[in-house]
Amino acid sequence: MPGRASAAVRRRRGRTVEPAARDAIAQLLANRPKRRDLLLEYLHAFQDAHGCLHAAHLVALADWLSLSVAEVYEVASFYHHFDLVRDGEEPPPELTVRVCDSITCALFGAEELLADLTHRLPDARLQRVPCVGRCAEAPVAVVRRFPLGSATPDAVCTAIDDGRFEDPAPPCPTCVQAQSQGAYAQLERLLQGDLDAERILEELERADLRGLGGAGFPAVRKWQIVRGHPKPRMLAVNIDEGEPGTFKDRHYLEHDLHALFEGMLIAAQVIEAERIYLYIRDEYAGARAMLDAALRDLHAHPPCALPAIELRRGAGAYVCGEESAMLESLEGRRGMPRLRPPYIAECGLFGRPTLEHNIETLCWVPKILARGGDWYRGHGRRDRRGLRSFSLSGRIRRPGVYQAPAGITARELINECGGGMLPGHTFYGYFPGGASGGLLPAALGDLPLDFGTLEEYRCFLGSGAVIVLSEQDRARDAALNAMRFFAHESCGKCTPCRVGTVKAAALMQAPHWDAALLDELSSAMRDASICGLGQAAPNPLQSMLRYFPHEVQA
Ligand code: SF4
Repeated sequence: MPGRASAAVRRRRGRTVEPAARDAIAQLLANRPKRRDLLLEYLHAFQDAHGCLHAAHLVALADWLSLSVAEVYEVASFYHHFDLVRDGEEPPPELTVRVCDSITCALFGAEELLADLTHRLPDARLQRVPCVGRCAEAPVAVVRRFPLGSATPDAVCTAIDDGRFEDPAPPCPTCVQAQSQGAYAQLERLLQGDLDAERILEELERADLRGLGGAGFPAVRKWQIVRGHPKPRMLAVNIDEGEPGTFKDRHYLEHDLHALFEGMLIAAQVIEAERIYLYIRDEYAGARAMLDAALRDLHAHPPCALPAIELRRGAGAYVCGEESAMLESLEGRRGMPRLRPPYIAECGLFGRPTLEHNIETLCWVPKILARGGDWYRGHGRRDRRGLRSFSLSGRIRRPGVYQAPAGITARELINECGGGMLPGHTFYGYFPGGASGGLLPAALGDLPLDFGTLEEYRCFLGSGAVIVLSEQDRARDAALNAMRFFAHESCGKCTPCRVGTVKAAALMQAPHWDAALLDELSSAMRDASICGLGQAAPNPLQSMLRYFPHEVQA
């Protein structure tokens, strides 16, 4: 009967919670608070326990959190690391192997690795994934959560046979050990009155410390703006680096964690933050486990009265590195950038004034306070000031993270830090700031690398991800790789980016590019996209037209 059928459909479409799914909630989320902002954490709990997200569990989760099913579904379907299994669909195979196919890994054979593994692992799920933050070890495969650098098909199969599926947590000194080695001394000075907020701001201003996540906005200005808005205030730490070529956040986490904690606690004191949130990308499972343990240790041996501190886990969305998208994600929503104004310093996390910083910026704070702003500012070449961390990868002998003076050139970086080009390779070009920072030829390898310098070349430094190409590489392949990445990672909120990146990638596959059309498309993306992803996406293709026309034009 029509009436009964509609009622049945209504029940299926509505909030009919299966008893088994309700039991799963009770089992997995017992004693957890019913907070919407923890939605991603709860989705992770299900994904980890069941290897995927079943529709019945999403319905039960929506019911438990008093949300509509659509609200839970839209979040679960937004993030790449959640595997949704709809009614009637098969769950994914038990074993997933991810192979990074971003620029550096592509240079070192990611495609060949993928092709070989397709034959060797017929029962596994093979996924192409964007940068996993290990470009110095390219090519990289991730066996479940175990990252394998310099990956070969044999090495991947051996890892599977050996049952190596987890990312081991790197070692980290305890708080007490770190204190005995001088950590938290500047925080102590602040607590003892030897320093105060004004002095700290003066010193950071003298240092000319910039936000080192990519934008380069003066750090002190951010702190001052947040302080100028009424309490309660928030501090958010961005450990979500996802720019292809960038891996310095993980380096700082693994090697300088207590500098992060000290810088974070000093910043929290200065802006009088009520809460601190740390948002770390899901790809860094080992570093996250270490960070989690270190935070528990910090609470056990606090160097000062601690504000509430929460560690949150991203779920595979590059766009969440954008500051307002990260806040949306922290609130348990899709990571879509917000329209501005208002800026997050005024109206950020949960509508409160929010200071957001990349991990490297915070790590510099205690060092600058210990040695003085003039010390930091005293570094630099070619009239640039300060120190920068570069993630250096590509066709060089010693890829890695290097601290170098602002204003160093790519050629100097390659020779002084990277040990020169790989044998048989000649410097051909470089990405100065990851996929979004554009692409320059070797002839421009002597430009000073710093904020505000590369813009006239339609490039930017961003987070300092320098990827080096040799004459054995085609710049057009690297540029196309970058555009495909943006198409994959566009959040879809605005049309110029959502559609433009896909169109551009299609046009860039032609043997000879339609330069006029690509120019027009670039202008639309640059001028009308909401956030930096869409605005910067045309950079590599514009670089091709400007600096490598011989590769793309008839
Ligand atoms: Fe989303 Fe792209 Fe628009 Fe940014 S520019 S809001 S990533 S669609």
